Amino acid sequence: MIRAILTDIEGTTSSLSFVKDVLFPYSKKKLADFLSKHSEDSEVQRILREVQEIESGDPVKTLLGWIEEDRKITPLKELQGLMWEEGYKTGELKGHIYEDAYRKLKEWHNKGIPLYIYSSGSVKAQKLLFGHTQHGDLNFLFSGYFDTKIGNKKDPQSYRRIAEEIGLKPEEVLFLSDNPEEIEASAKTGMQVIRVAREGESEFIENFPYRQVRSFEEIEL
Ligand SMILES: [Mg+2]
Repeated sequence: MIRAILTDIEGTTSSLSFVKDVLFPYSKKKLADFLSKHSEDSEVQRILREVQEIESGDPVKTLLGWIEEDRKITPLKELQGLMWEEGYKTGELKGHIYEDAYRKLKEWHNKGIPLYIYSSGSVKAQKLLFGHTQHGDLNFLFSGYFDTKIGNKKDPQSYRRIAEEIGLKPEEVLFLSDNPEEIEASAKTGMQVIRVAREGESEFIENFPYRQVRSFEEIEL
């Protein structure tokens, strides 16, 4: 019996290309403006100092280069976090959620099934995304959020910890993700799993030992 649902975001509830085609270009386009607008902000000043400690020279140029190369460098991630937060708050950015995911999550929530997120994006970024979607603030749907602080998404131990935090046995939790390795890791703990392979984003894997669907509409509890 499924007593809670745990879901991934990118490629599962939301478009894989959202980060690549919306969030990244946004931070690139707005960078210079954002920095001059917030030049008095002590957090922004600290981030810029850190950028210059890593690479001397014009920090704007450095940051643009890092965005281009998709570098996972802390001061860049922090700055992007601040920029996206502002973008969501002004309404310039809208968090993407697939219609079928929205309908089903709402249906499950209305049935009283607790819903949880597990994403490699920070909990803060998860709440921002779901707080500013095309359907408004959807954070009311979720009972909790997990990011990589609980562990790597490809490590079964992370799913055991999550089940424990939720207060259920892994067998009572259904995990949804587009990533086959995450599905395998979670299934190892006894969690129920369904792989979401969205049309145009990922393909069904032949002989994959777990169920695969194209959309949340196909999932009946
Ligand atoms: Mg994913």
